[in-house]
Amino acid sequence: MPMIENPWPTIDLHVHLRGTIDRTTALDMARQNKVHVSMGNFSAAGGYAWSSFEEFLTVYDQVGRVVRSAEDIYRLATSYLCRCASQGTIYVEFMLSPGHSVENGIPLKGQLEAMTSAFDEARRSTGIEGGLIITCVRHRGPDEAIFIAETVLTNMSSSVVGFGLTGNEGLYDAAEFKGAFQIAEEAGLGLTAHTGEWRDAASVLQTVEQLNLSRIGHGIRAMENHSIVEKLVERDIGFEVCLSSNVALGACRSAGEHPLRKMIEAGCKVSLATDDPAFFGTSPINEYEIARDVLGISDEQLVQISLDAVDMAFCSPAKKILLREKILNHLHLHHIG
Ligand SMILES: [Zn+2]
Repeated sequence: MPMIENPWPTIDLHVHLRGTIDRTTALDMARQNKVHVSMGNFSAAGGYAWSSFEEFLTVYDQVGRVVRSAEDIYRLATSYLCRCASQGTIYVEFMLSPGHSVENGIPLKGQLEAMTSAFDEARRSTGIEGGLIITCVRHRGPDEAIFIAETVLTNMSSSVVGFGLTGNEGLYDAAEFKGAFQIAEEAGLGLTAHTGEWRDAASVLQTVEQLNLSRIGHGIRAMENHSIVEKLVERDIGFEVCLSSNVALGACRSAGEHPLRKMIEAGCKVSLATDDPAFFGTSPINEYEIARDVLGISDEQLVQISLDAVDMAFCSPAKKILLREKILNHLHLHHIG
């Protein structure tokens, strides 16, 4: 793949592995694994179709069912990492919800080995770095979350850097997942959770406090309450902001109305991420371009977003030094900053 030179090296801290399955790959894996996928999941434009967040989750789960082997997981991860590297991405943290794949016959150990092999192969062939965030799924309940946290620890792999909470924010309070997060925290994993995408500002602060998070997925509704934003800034909480996702799922009416600029002005530590790139037709570079072209975020601010992303990343301090060097070398070459 030819390298594309960008003004800013990009980082993607919030991308669900199953969210990288594009239509072609979904149909290919469905055929290969003899899994039925309803054509009703697809849009006429070549992507996926849904009309509400709940329907999105259903389509998403149905598409995810095509993944039936550790080789499929390896293929998805390697493909996304190499594609990102070819567009100037230097680091990716994947979110993987192992419960679905265990149900589909892929043991957790096999999933983790496939991810580690994918990171090794992508690093070897492109230089991109990565890490894995194991996520429990909110609407599948706290019992499964504890089971996942315990199972991950007994099958620990060097690629696992974090633990997270995804799924339908409308179901279960974050506090119910405290047990699972404590297990992950004691194991030294970084902690993040989806919050403030749908529920209000107060729930964002509660989730941060209850689960002792250093990062949050989305968190945009925190902007509705100034004193809560101040508290999140004081705690140096990192926001994983996903512009295309927020618009595609209706959390924001349009990219132009997204609070990213206000978040930066309020002193929030933000990164830009793709969430489910195959579903939202996006990529790390596309998210940075939307921030620049639609929201008027400057090149210097976008470089700061990448540096903040390094700060927020769950990887080792040594890897952070390497990533910062990559960004600063790039700046030197392009005379930015
Ligand atoms: Zn997400």
